[in-house]
Amino acid sequence: MLIDCHVCNSKVDAEIIGKHNNLDFFATSTFLLNCPACHTALIAELYEDLDEGKSTWSQPVRVYPKPKRLLGADIPPIVKNSIDEAERCMQAGAYLAATAMCGRALEAICRYFKTKDNYLGGGLKELRDTGVIDAKLYQWGEELRDQRNNAAHATDTEISHQDANDVVTFTYAIIDYVFLLAQKFERFQVRKLERSKSKIKV
Ligand SMILES: [Zn+2]
Repeated sequence: MLIDCHVCNSKVDAEIIGKHNNLDFFATSTFLLNCPACHTALIAELYEDLDEGKSTWSQPVRVYPKPKRLLGADIPPIVKNSIDEAERCMQAGAYLAATAMCGRALEAICRYFKTKDNYLGGGLKELRDTGVIDAKLYQWGEELRDQRNNAAHATDTEISHQDANDVVTFTYAIIDYVFLLAQKFERFQVRKLERSKSKIKV
């Protein structure tokens, strides 16, 4: 079975050692695999999808070790879809496509905050100027934009696994900062305010 090995950093044709089928409503097949190159144990899952009554199976996705990073439910769908797609591209060894998808996630963040400039460069600047991202993240964003431009246009640029993986990691950091950290801080402030109010009552 073709799967992305996190040790070899490449697609390998892994040997199937065991298989488990769960044929409940959302059918899942789980495979215990052995990487033929480094002999690491890998666990892959395939999911059944029903599209207009027709059954199709997903590509195998590695769920252990190092499964894809999980995002909370509070992320806008367009941002989440882009980063999910980037993850799928990474596992499939499509590093250019993964980088292009990270650029799409950044564009989606700009759109979410309704930046006036539709281009990524101007949009990122607006996010920095309005305090949505800080100077360091802006720098990262500029790097991502550079990589995205290379990935999205028909140049002869190649992107290595490591570079693409860094781009995905930076994109997660920006999403975390913009959506999750900000929300956590707001909730923290609300709790603090409520605590101080209840103290006044006492
Ligand atoms: Zn391996």
